[in-house]
Amino acid sequence: MAEVLVYVDHVDGAVRKPTLELLTLARRLGEPVAVHLGPGAGTAAAVLAEHGATRVLAADAPEFAEYLVVPKVDALEAAARAVSPAAVLVPSSAEGKEIAARLALRLESGLITDAVDLEPGDQGPVVTQSVFAAAFTTASRVTHGVPVITVKPNSAAPEAAPAAGTVEELAVSFGPLATGTKVVSRSPRESTGRPELTEAAIVVSGGRGVNGAENFALIEALADSLGAAVGASRAAVDAGWYPHSHQVGQTGKTVSPQLYIAAGISGAIQHRAGMQTSKTIVAINKDAEAPIFELVDYGVVGDLFDVVPALTDEVRAR
Ligand code: FAD
Repeated sequence: MAEVLVYVDHVDGAVRKPTLELLTLARRLGEPVAVHLGPGAGTAAAVLAEHGATRVLAADAPEFAEYLVVPKVDALEAAARAVSPAAVLVPSSAEGKEIAARLALRLESGLITDAVDLEPGDQGPVVTQSVFAAAFTTASRVTHGVPVITVKPNSAAPEAAPAAGTVEELAVSFGPLATGTKVVSRSPRESTGRPELTEAAIVVSGGRGVNGAENFALIEALADSLGAAVGASRAAVDAGWYPHSHQVGQTGKTVSPQLYIAAGISGAIQHRAGMQTSKTIVAINKDAEAPIFELVDYGVVGDLFDVVPALTDEVRAR
């Protein structure tokens, strides 16, 4: 059976959920082979094996941490040349997309970014993308070389499928470009303890209806009761009520959680562009005519200052 390379996104061996989603999707195309770069392969191998990795190709070198993406591209290229995979899957993070683009160039392959689904096809994987502010869904396939595909978080639910997950050392030699851009410093953002917006299974977002930065505490309380991330409409962000890094929409982030709760958000096309592929959508809005109600699974017509605290209490009571 053909092998499919999966680039592992991890922090010191703690594998992030999008990688488990990729392993699940990779199994549709062949046998997943995980590529783990940096420290912690031993720790990561167990979870990678549990989710279907037949092999884990591991390389560790200071270059992966000290320089930007090129050393990782060198390693992934080495893996691709060693394995001749049916496809290479990479998470659609900012770093993942840069790695994938550079890899595709090196392999003289076609690249498809921001996939939301993929299926096997007679002439290679058929990849679904949601384009033009989610107004269209396209199906594409790579026609030249090994398909390099980046996949958006939450495109699949990770499923366990135990496999061998044998760790093998990947031999890498770094090219002249590898040390071209050095990391000078890293300052991790202060953690809120909430999941990352684009990876969260549940997102609770507030809009102009929240009516003030201080009232976002209501949105955060509901989010915390559900273990959710917090999002915001552009109106709320432009008003300075919540940071831009939490903006959902065309000029913000695209989320596709299992559950998206929009409170005090009208449902403008530019907001929809960032959330309409969510599996279940709930809106709380006091205007029964608000456009957001056109795309919801469940709608609550009411004042968010009554509904959100009541919902939070109900969730906490369970
Ligand atoms: P509004 O449209 O003002 O809606 C507020 C809603 O809250 C109303 O429906 C109202 O009924 C309801 N409400 C008020 N009070 C309460 C209450 N007490 N309880 C319950 N409901 C209440 N927008 C984005 O979100 N993300 C983007 O990335 C984005 N990119 C854009 C890019 C471009 C090029 C442009 C032109 C616009 C973009 N916008 C984006 C802006 C977008 O067009 C809308 O202006 C914005 O989404 C509106 O935000 P909102 O729904 O919070 O506010």
